[in-house]
Amino acid sequence: MRVVSDESGTSVFVRQSWLNDAMMCPERSRLLKLFPESRRENDSAMMGTAVHKGIEAVLTGVVSDADAAGEFAVAWFKSRRQELIDEGKDVFVTNTNPLQWYSHIDTMAKAWFRDVSPLVERGGLVEHQFCQQVATVDSPVVGQFSLFFEGTIDYIAPSAESGLVTIWDWKTSSRKYYEAEKQSRDVQSAVYVSAIVASGAAEFPVGFKFGVMTRSGSSVGQIVSVLRSEEHYKWIVSQASSVVNGFLLSERFLPDGSWMRNDQHHLCSARWCPVWSKCKGSFMGHDAEEAEIG
Ligand code: SF4
Repeated sequence: MRVVSDESGTSVFVRQSWLNDAMMCPERSRLLKLFPESRRENDSAMMGTAVHKGIEAVLTGVVSDADAAGEFAVAWFKSRRQELIDEGKDVFVTNTNPLQWYSHIDTMAKAWFRDVSPLVERGGLVEHQFCQQVATVDSPVVGQFSLFFEGTIDYIAPSAESGLVTIWDWKTSSRKYYEAEKQSRDVQSAVYVSAIVASGAAEFPVGFKFGVMTRSGSSVGQIVSVLRSEEHYKWIVSQASSVVNGFLLSERFLPDGSWMRNDQHHLCSARWCPVWSKCKGSFMGHDAEEAEIG
């Protein structure tokens, strides 16, 4: 979340990843802002970025077949890892086997090409960055603020048939997605669609598809479709506004104190929370920390 105040008023810029994080554990957001060096490049996220690079290379015409997409993705991963090593760091290992990194990246890029790519209409926008005002919100702290959603959309495909657009997001995951769960609760699709409609580039309802590649040596591509309507837009604006107001209040009244600490989710562990040692880890001791990692 970024807050910008000037003579014209206050603007608050929200990314979907921040919104998801903030709802999961406000204290994690506060500590990561205080200690940005705690952020680390973890294995599964970097493998996902590598696969994105391979897909992007196909959609922009840099490569044109599955083998080349896989090679491109693996080469990106190797190069990024070398950069980290040169900086005295390395990929943080969470739940993957380093010996399988390259083969899994390769099979995921190929799975996208084989299972997802044939259903992706070409001629759209790749890695589309947006920063769009979606509402004006009353606030007990700053009086009123302009709420912006910002981020990068993996791909916006035009539909030659219907004239509508479909927004695509590429995911790599250890398991398949449940479509009903995404339709009822997914934040990312609501944020992206709201911004695109507010910009005037589309009208509700808008289709949003996840192209999901399972992280394994026999990866398959899954397409999960959700639909976002005006009701979803009203909900996500209301939800984001409530979170932002909560943060603005906390910043004002708890400038040096900890915020709500939520450990009721699987990402509260030494393996998945980058600020674990500054929070729950400092209460649990070394043995418990090892248990959390295992
Ligand atoms: S250790 Fe748990 S409670 Fe503390 S910041 Fe991390 S996720 Fe939140």
